[in-house]
Amino acid sequence: MRESVVVVGGGIAGLSLASQAAYDFDVTVLESEFQPGYHSTGRSAAVLHIPFENDVVHRLTLDSVDFFRSPPKGFQGVAESLSSLRIGGTAEEPEIENFLETWIARCPWLESLSQKELFTKCPILSKKFTSGVIDNQSLHLDVHRLLSCMRREFKELGGKIETNFRVVSIEHVHGSWKLTSDNAATVTADILVNAAGAWVDDVARLADIQPIGVQARRRTGIRCKPSVFSSSWPMCYLITDDLYFKPEGRSLMLSPCDATPSEPCDAQPETIDIAQAIARLEESTTLQNVVPHECWAGLRVFVPDQWPVVGYDRDHPGFFWYGAFGGFGVQTAPGCSKLGAMLLRHTESTNSSVSVHELSPSRLNRATGGYS
Ligand SMILES: Cc1cc2nc3c(=O)[nH]c(=O)nc-3n(C[C@H](O)[C@H](O)[C@H](O)COP(=O)(O)OP(=O)(O)OC[C@H]3O[C@@H](n4cnc5c(N)ncnc54)[C@H](O)[C@@H]3O)c2cc1C
Repeated sequence: MRESVVVVGGGIAGLSLASQAAYDFDVTVLESEFQPGYHSTGRSAAVLHIPFENDVVHRLTLDSVDFFRSPPKGFQGVAESLSSLRIGGTAEEPEIENFLETWIARCPWLESLSQKELFTKCPILSKKFTSGVIDNQSLHLDVHRLLSCMRREFKELGGKIETNFRVVSIEHVHGSWKLTSDNAATVTADILVNAAGAWVDDVARLADIQPIGVQARRRTGIRCKPSVFSSSWPMCYLITDDLYFKPEGRSLMLSPCDATPSEPCDAQPETIDIAQAIARLEESTTLQNVVPHECWAGLRVFVPDQWPVVGYDRDHPGFFWYGAFGGFGVQTAPGCSKLGAMLLRHTESTNSSVSVHELSPSRLNRATGGYS
């Protein structure tokens, strides 16, 4: 008989791991909201950058990029090409050079651009920008489609998804987990996967397991519809890390890159963050009187080294951590979920460029409580 796995959390993390695990286990995903992807997953900027964040995230992205570039059957249309620019003014030239130096060996396609070349790529840029680096290997991801394809694959493999199932109690009885919802439904399983996003520590506490000390940080997204045509522009990131904007058809999506610490919650945008994003967009481009058309916020979840946490708890075999996906949970999902499924089966990965130890919960100094 196959072992059973219950996954708490129906975001990209939970669903991608569940669909990989469903080849070997009987898997049930429990999601407290009325649909999967309601929290961080449904609120992302939906991009993939290869030179991104840190070396571990970079390698997990490399393990994922082929999936997006040549999607397997049933996943067509989940990604399309996008160029992205890191830009700065005279004062930021050292930061631009540093970005290039940090990544050029691993991403040899990166190119420096002169001021004139910047304006050819993105004619609305303010003249204060004097240099930049272009990355022609970024991707725009269709997160909604990705999640639907994963759900379909998971169900075809016999997986079950229970929505409106908020786990409020977890017991470990005679070697198996018993999870109870707020309306008294129960599910039992041999292995529990904790993929509860911002709530991973809360779920651990329910199971009487020491939290890893994650920190959730709120980030705001805004969509506006400038009257100029934009779809051929690259995504632009200020090297000062306080604004990015990217074309989405005739809309522009932007973010002030806020990272405000937050309790786990249904994050909502704050007026100040929206106003700052619009002000920075107007300072950075020729666009004026920009009116936000749609605003939202979501939580990005980190541990101190800003790498994900994947693996069995050292003190509680049968409790598997799958969280802390920061601002990279979508772009790393294909590679990371394959590695996660191998670890669930207790097999060592042969294909992953990230080692088991780099992601293990045991690397964290839980005595100091992570961020808590
Ligand atoms: C503004 C913004 C921009 C971003 N841009 C990008 C980007 O461009 N590229 C990228 O790769 N990443 C991006 N990210 C990050 C990405 O969205 C996250 O890394 C990813 O969505 C995390 O997925 P998750 O499944 O861990 O969390 P979530 O999507 O939050 O899923 C966790 C789920 O667990 C459920 N849950 C929690 N507690 C319980 C419980 N007790 N019982 C049952 N269910 C429970 C929740 O309801 C939730 O649905 C961005 C994030 C934000 C906020």
